[in-house]
Amino acid sequence: MMLSTVLTELKGVGPAAAAKFGVLGLKTVGDLVTYWPRRYDDYSQVVTMKDLKPGAVTLSGTIDTITSRYVRRGMHITEAQAHDATGVVRLVWFNQPYRANSIKPGQQYFISGNYELSHQRFGLLNPTIELAQEFTVNTARIVPIYKETKGLTSRQIRAAVADALPKLTLDETLPQWLIDEADLLDYSTAVHTMHFPESAEALAVAKRRLGFEEVFGLSLASQYAKQELQLERALPVQFKPELAKLFVSQLPFTLTDGQRATAWQIFTDMERPTPMNRLVEGDVGSGKTVVATMAAVMAMDQGYQVAFMAPTELLARQHANTLALLLSDKKHQDRVGLLVGSMKTAQKTAAREAIKDGRIQCIVGTQALIQDSVDMHKLALVIIDEQHRFGVDQRKALMLKSGHMPHVLSMTATPIPRSLALTLYGEMDISVLREKPAGRQEVQTELVSPNSQAQLFDKVQAELQAGRQAFVVCPLIAESAVLDAQSAEATYERLRQHELKKWRVGLLHGKLKPADKQAVMEQFVRHELDVLVSTTVIEVGVDIPNASVMLIETPERFGLAQLHQLRGRIGRGAHQSYCYALLSDSKAPGRRLRAFESTYDGFKLSELDLQLRGPGAIYGTLQHGALDLRIAQLSDTVLIAEAQKAAKAFIKREENLLHYTTLAQTITRLQTVTNLN
Ligand code: ADP
Ligand code: MG
Repeated sequence: MMLSTVLTELKGVGPAAAAKFGVLGLKTVGDLVTYWPRRYDDYSQVVTMKDLKPGAVTLSGTIDTITSRYVRRGMHITEAQAHDATGVVRLVWFNQPYRANSIKPGQQYFISGNYELSHQRFGLLNPTIELAQEFTVNTARIVPIYKETKGLTSRQIRAAVADALPKLTLDETLPQWLIDEADLLDYSTAVHTMHFPESAEALAVAKRRLGFEEVFGLSLASQYAKQELQLERALPVQFKPELAKLFVSQLPFTLTDGQRATAWQIFTDMERPTPMNRLVEGDVGSGKTVVATMAAVMAMDQGYQVAFMAPTELLARQHANTLALLLSDKKHQDRVGLLVGSMKTAQKTAAREAIKDGRIQCIVGTQALIQDSVDMHKLALVIIDEQHRFGVDQRKALMLKSGHMPHVLSMTATPIPRSLALTLYGEMDISVLREKPAGRQEVQTELVSPNSQAQLFDKVQAELQAGRQAFVVCPLIAESAVLDAQSAEATYERLRQHELKKWRVGLLHGKLKPADKQAVMEQFVRHELDVLVSTTVIEVGVDIPNASVMLIETPERFGLAQLHQLRGRIGRGAHQSYCYALLSDSKAPGRRLRAFESTYDGFKLSELDLQLRGPGAIYGTLQHGALDLRIAQLSDTVLIAEAQKAAKAFIKREENLLHYTTLAQTITRLQTVTNLN
């Protein structure tokens, strides 16, 4: 049997069952044996009947009698008695009439199930039962529980896995030196153990091995990317200290230490002939744009071009304005130009002309526009806002135009815990702006119980009365019968007609046409709307200093990192700002929401999210769901450090990736999903 063998070759798997496995994404034996259990039930302790206590138990006993009867329509009961040397026990199954034929009196079985009270008598209800033998699959062991699907139970999956494993040869996927150095379990044993562990300790060892392999793959993918980038040539941008000093001296504030250090790192990177690839992480309002602008000035002053890319037109326009303000020098100011889709054709043509003849050196726009027919043969620096990684393809497209690889500076307001950042973005250098500029007021956050809604709207209206604006954020667009969350549309109608009927209320969600979205957003920017009801589409980075209130409906449905990002839309001006999380019921809020209320540090919150909900929570905000780390805990910093070190060693040894088929496949897949390729 081979990894590529189809599942119908397995005992008990016909075409119908194979289709069910297909629903779970399992087509081949290889898919099946790497379909890791979701969790385990521990039935490994076999107890004697006299020691039975209520709860999950496993017994070893002989069946004495078994009977089966209908008690009423739709209710069939199978009852058996089993004994061991110490006592007897009653077994009961509901609506499983086949049991009476499959279980043979006089035979010895392992019986696992819940010992509990039913109709005034103790017994095992719906127990799992299996002939007593050396290798058991369903009882008398730590039993794997898989994600099931309609018509396919864990028991059936277990049977298929148990049939497949002994018939397969599982080749080692990692180099032997690495197994030895990192003290890893071999691949085959690890896979067997994941399904049928002999002990909790054995399971932990298997998980470490497979988790290590996952992180190792990710690290290796990013190391390769880094290595490749080092072979490219960039335009070295000379660091001119007087220019930096002048720029700083003309700012209306002093830089934070973090800003200063980050700027220095960027200048150092840009002086090299190899392309910079740096990610600046900083909470909203930490002052990333200023730092990026300094880098832009340095390049522009030497006659180079800079492309400043924003995720949306609105943000591009905002950035163009900010840049013009920050560039105190008229010479530089005049060299900033906007290029966005909604500009008239004539305007666009004029902008392209100005870029071509060098009157515009810093082009602000969205990615699409900058990459189209713009002449950028002197492009030295690309700054991209609110995106974590500039894909290799995008880079190459720019290189074709300019003949060299630009330096790339990415900025993100998503605070990524260090362990996660190292794993996901190992090919980038990372700068962190941890502190906020002095004098910033923290957003005051409050969890509000549904009973206090009336007072809540009084507070909101008081702010509106004072001339401020408010966001109302909802998890869903339209009302859903399934999910008990406030939809944006329903909330919009309700607020407009009731709670906030005195005010100008707008609605924004992802299903609107881009032009309509833009229009609503701009109305809000111009204060033609007082309240904006929206889904999470309100853009990261949008700067509306007059907005001082945010009301988040059904906050239970958001991750911590996401809640914090949302909250970053307010507190950007001089006014004290307030964030109200309107709980959906009066139950005590969980740890996550309490942390949201008491903590205003995005990094702390994302570390906590990682611990509480696992990497998925953060992948969600990063759109990295496809990464699919199934075993490794990204909060396991020791494992991550080891795997990272191993990836570096792999490269240093000049190992040929092609010698490791599985690893090579993994790398290719990762390069695709992580946009490294
Ligand atoms: P980010 O892009 O990180 O969210 P910005 O660069 O837009 O933050 O900065 C937010 C605001 O703070 C801007 O108005 C900016 O001028 C201001 N700012 C930036 N750095 C400082 C500083 N060191 N001291 C005071 N204000 C600052
Ligand atoms: Mg910003």
